[in-house]
Amino acid sequence: MAELSLQHLDKIYDNKVQAVFDFNMDVKDGELIVLVGPSGCGKSTTLRMVAGLEDISRGHLLLNGRDITQTPAKDRDMAMVFQNYALYAHMTIYENMAFSLTMRKEDKNVIHKKVMAAAEILDLTAQLNKKPSQLSGGQRQRVAMGRSIVRNPSVFLFDEPLSNLDAKLRGATRREILLLHKRLGATMLYVTHDQTEALTLADRIVCMSMGHVQQIGTPMELYDRPANTFVAGFIGLPPMNFYHVRVEGGLLKGEGFEVPLTEEERATLSDRNNREIILGVRPEDMAEGGTVPVDVTNNENLGMNTLVHGYIGGRHDLHIVAKLRGWKEYRPGDGVKLQFTRKHFFDPETTNAIRKED
Ligand code: ADP
Repeated sequence: MAELSLQHLDKIYDNKVQAVFDFNMDVKDGELIVLVGPSGCGKSTTLRMVAGLEDISRGHLLLNGRDITQTPAKDRDMAMVFQNYALYAHMTIYENMAFSLTMRKEDKNVIHKKVMAAAEILDLTAQLNKKPSQLSGGQRQRVAMGRSIVRNPSVFLFDEPLSNLDAKLRGATRREILLLHKRLGATMLYVTHDQTEALTLADRIVCMSMGHVQQIGTPMELYDRPANTFVAGFIGLPPMNFYHVRVEGGLLKGEGFEVPLTEEERATLSDRNNREIILGVRPEDMAEGGTVPVDVTNNENLGMNTLVHGYIGGRHDLHIVAKLRGWKEYRPGDGVKLQFTRKHFFDPETTNAIRKED
């Protein structure tokens, strides 16, 4: 059982760089939380503050209601799995996994039971007598996880654990982490810059930018109801398209195009009439047959879908990417008219989403 409470955490490094601002979140027992954002946004710093590897400059950290802000890392009952899984080359896989328990001088039989159980969970039973050099990258990553599992920590912390793996292995290891999470039911904090990992792994995502939390929510919430243009542009691939448009009654007017609004969209934008907003449209929320004229520059067939790149109304500053269902064969220079089947609206001043209830 492990509930974490991160209360108004700030991190200011010695060189006065503030890496994290007012990080505030309660993590429920057994939740898998993914911290995502571009490089340098403060994800690792936050994780390291939780681990106790960095001092917390301001704020409080609670584990099951107990304040552990000042507790040394080794006494926090957490295990961190790093991106470069340094294994001891001269030891067998068994010895690597047993290492921390051996250091603590635990009973040999107890160690054996724990290592065998972890190996079973991680499908490493047949590898236990081998040396790390005889294992694949993915297996070595699992050994690194095994070293954490044998300690039976309250909280698992993952810092970009998949970034050393090739694309195929990343997918497979991601699914293993999900299974592991299900089997152990443990509370996990997982850091990545990869939005796909966030969407596929998380119970809840924390999306960060420049030290600030932008939004906390389920993958569905961040995808479907992004709080601002940052989250909207970061979550989803290819990224959302953004355009400055004017609200004019039942229409949105952009440079070189206009699109009609549904009744519901009109209601959402009722107090924005004759004002400028930012329109966001995901590539997958477009279809052929509409009012937006596009000059095609590229046609990429993905099998089930086709990515069509182009410019709106011939304007080279209005790039558009559409993900159209089916196999299309547009050529550079072709024209196509597109419709937007779902639209997102943002305030140009604050960049925050405009919603009906606002
Ligand atoms: P992320 O994990 O999102 O890539 P980090 O948490 O590593 O980001 O870094 C956040 C910010 O803090 C960056 O601007 C980084 O340069 C800065 N930073 C990280 N570690 C230190 C440190 N030890 N001393 C000073 N600044 C640091």
